[in-house]
Amino acid sequence: MIEKKLPFTKLQIEDIIKKYPSPFHIYDEKGIRDNAAKLIKAFSWADFKEYFAVKATPNPGILKIMKDLGFGADCSSLPELLLAERAGFTGEEIMFSSNDTPVDEYVKAKELGAIINLDDISHIPFLDKCCGIPEVISFRYNPGHLRNGNPIIGDPVESKYGFTRRQIFEGFRIVRDKGAKRFGLHSFVISNELNRESYVETSRMLFKMAVDLKNEIGIRLEFVNLSGGIGIPYRPEQNAVDLAALGKEIEREYIEIIAANDLHPMKIYSECGRMITGPYGYLVSTVLHKKDIYKQYVGLDASMANLMRPALYGAYHHITVLGKENMPADHIYDVTGSLCENNDKFAIDRKLPRVDVGDIVVIHDAGAHGHAMGFNYNGKLRSAELLLKPDGRVEMIRRAETAEDYFATLNF
Ligand SMILES: *Cc1c(COP(=O)(O)O)cnc(C)c1O
Repeated sequence: MIEKKLPFTKLQIEDIIKKYPSPFHIYDEKGIRDNAAKLIKAFSWADFKEYFAVKATPNPGILKIMKDLGFGADCSSLPELLLAERAGFTGEEIMFSSNDTPVDEYVKAKELGAIINLDDISHIPFLDKCCGIPEVISFRYNPGHLRNGNPIIGDPVESKYGFTRRQIFEGFRIVRDKGAKRFGLHSFVISNELNRESYVETSRMLFKMAVDLKNEIGIRLEFVNLSGGIGIPYRPEQNAVDLAALGKEIEREYIEIIAANDLHPMKIYSECGRMITGPYGYLVSTVLHKKDIYKQYVGLDASMANLMRPALYGAYHHITVLGKENMPADHIYDVTGSLCENNDKFAIDRKLPRVDVGDIVVIHDAGAHGHAMGFNYNGKLRSAELLLKPDGRVEMIRRAETAEDYFATLNF
C-alpha cells in the first residue's frame, strides 16, 4: 500500500492555474530523477544503459532530463527520431525499435548512427537495399509458445512483433555474412508488469539465447535489451517494483548464465517508459459541472483527449480532490470529460469526498502514455505540459493547442 502523495500543494496549484489555465499535465522533475537514480543504482553491477521510450512522454523538456541522467532514447517513428536528435541525442544513444517500418525511417536511423533493432527477418534485405547493413544490429525476439505474455500485452503467439527463435539464428548468420560486427538481442513480452519475476524471466530467456547463439553459430552478443514493461502502482493498494531487488535477481541470472558461459562482459539495456515518468506526471483539471440523474456525475475541463487510458483500457487512475484529502470518501461519482462519447470517463463509481463545482482535481500517474496519446477528435485541443523543477519553479514545456493549431493542416 502506497500513499498517493502529491509533490505540490493546493495553494501552489492555484497559483499555477492563474498563469496556465487548467487542464494541464505537470511533471515532477525531482520525482523522475530520484526514481531514475534507483534504476541506475540497481544495475550499477552491469554495463547498463536505459533507453527511455520516447513515445511515453515525447517532449524535449523531459528528454533533456533523460539525457542528463545518461539515458538514451528509444524511438519507433521518424518524428521520434527527429525529436531525439533535436533533444541532443546522437549515434548509439538512440535505439530504433520499430515495426512495419517505412524506408525513410531506416534512412534517418542509419544517418543518425542509431542502433537499429529489426522486428522481422524480411527487414534484413529491406534495410540492406535502402541503407546497407550497419556494423551494429539488433533483433527483436518473439518467443511464441515458449513464453506466456501477461494480460496486458497478451500471448506472444498472437503478437505481431519479432523474429521466431529459428529466424533469430538464421538472421544473425545473414547479417554477419553481410558485414555486421556487433550484435544485440531484444524482447518485449510483458507490459505494465508489477511482478519482478516476469522481467527476470525475460532476462533469463535472453541470456540463455546468448549462450545458444555463441555455441551454435559463434555469435557473441554485445548487448541484451530487456526492453520496457516494468509496471507502476496505479492503484493505492499496489506496490512499486523493488528495483534494487530486481537488479540483484537479474545479476544472479547474469552470473549463472552469462559469466558462467564466458560471455562476460555483456551490456544490459532497458527501454522503459512508463516506470520512468508515469508516476511523476499529473493531469490537473477543474470541475465545471455536477450532474444528478440516474447516477452522480462530476464533469471536468479535461477529457479523454488528455488521458485516454481509462477509456481505452478501463485503466484505474487515482483521483485526488485538492484540499479534501482528509475528508471521508463518502460520495460515489462517475468523473467525466466533455467528449460526445459515453466512455469519456476518468473514473466510474469512484468513491470521493463531496465534490463541488470549481474544485481542482488531480489525476495521478499520467506522466507516461498520457498526454502522448492525446488526440483531436470532437475538436478537443491538447493541453499544456508543465515541468515542476526541483527548486519549485514551473516551466511550460509545451503550450496548449489553439484552434489555429487544429486548423493548421486544413484549406479553407
Ligand atoms: C512502448 C515500448 C516501450 C516502453 O514500454 P513501457 O511499458 O512504457 O515501459 C519499450 N520498447 C518498445 C519497443 C515499445 O514499443
